[in-house]
Formats: sequence, structure tokens, C-alpha cells
Amino acid sequence: MDLRSYVRDIPDYPKPGILFRDITPLLADAEALTAAVEAMAAPFLDADIDVVAAAEARGFIFGTPLAMRLGAGFVPIRKPGKLPFDLHSFAYQLEYGTDELQIHVDGIKPGQRVLIVDDLLATGGTVGACLRLLEKCDAKIVGCSFLIHLEALGGEARMEPYDVHSVLKYG
Ligand code: IMP
Repeated sequence: MDLRSYVRDIPDYPKPGILFRDITPLLADAEALTAAVEAMAAPFLDADIDVVAAAEARGFIFGTPLAMRLGAGFVPIRKPGKLPFDLHSFAYQLEYGTDELQIHVDGIKPGQRVLIVDDLLATGGTVGACLRLLEKCDAKIVGCSFLIHLEALGGEARMEPYDVHSVLKYG
């Protein structure tokens, strides 16, 4: 199945000069969605994943079905003000300003085998923050799975030394 044909290119969104990869046509198609989840899970089927962790909002779309496919639990990573219990927090730099992500301190037990999931790897800022949070939890980070990797933006360098898997690569 040609999953690439379900990703729509939107020029100049959200601002001039950015080519946005819109995955909503893929999400709306039953067969494409199933094939995408299957392809994201494939390298990790025998990896004994205990927990899938993903950041809101689009990470949640793929994180939960991947967790179910891998026989794992799901732990949400969220923006400030959304999680009710004790937290680990990590602030990170955006192009303009900073952002912050949080995880429950007991979301992941020390040594649990964790897969990080997101729809798309761009600069790696989001997933880098997730990695730092999982390190604070003393998780065993097995790897990261993305539907799309925008290779020109250098995100993979920020993922070292962890294993990065992506289904669709754009130069
Ligand atoms: P990063 O933090 O720069 O790697 O950006 C990754 C995050 O931004 C992901 O969670 C995506 O949901 C979102 N994102 C960045 N660029 C795009 C795009 O072209 N299409 C869809 N989502 C994007």
C-alpha cells in the first residue's frame, strides 16, 4: 500500500516557506490507518515493549493503537496543567520561546522497556523532551517509532544514541 499517497502537502502552512505534511487523509482511511500502525509497530513486535509513551496531541493518535498492537500499556506525556499527579517536567527551546512537557512520576517504573511514538520527526525538539522525561523515570528506552521523518531538519542527531524507525522519509 502506498501510504505516501495519503499524505497531503500544504505549502506555506502554518507560515510562509513551510511545507506541511498533512496526515488527516491517511487517518480518515481505514486501510491506510491500519497499514500505518502495522508498519510503525513491525520492528518492535518481538522487542518486549512494556509501555508506549507519546506526547500530545498527535502522538496520542498512533501511540494507543501501537500499544495495543505490541501488548503494551500507554503513558501520556502532556503540556503543563493537564496531568493531576506528581510530575517530572522538562522545558525545551522552540524557534520563539520555550515549551514544556510533563509525565507522571509513577507513569513508568524503573527498568520498564519503553517505545516512544509520534506522528512526525522534524527538528527532534518534541521527542528529545520525551527522551529526557523517560530518562528521569529510569526507563529502558528501546527506540522511537514515527510515521514520517523530515530528514532535512536534523532531528535524528538529537535522538542519539537511541534507535529511530520511520515509515515514510521526506528529504
Ligand atoms: P519537532 O519537535 O520539530 O520534531 O516537531 C515534531 C512535532 O511537530 C510533531 O509532534 C508533529 O506533530 C509536529 N509537526 C511538525 N511539522 C509537521 C508537519 O509538516 N506535519 C505534521 N506535523 C508536524
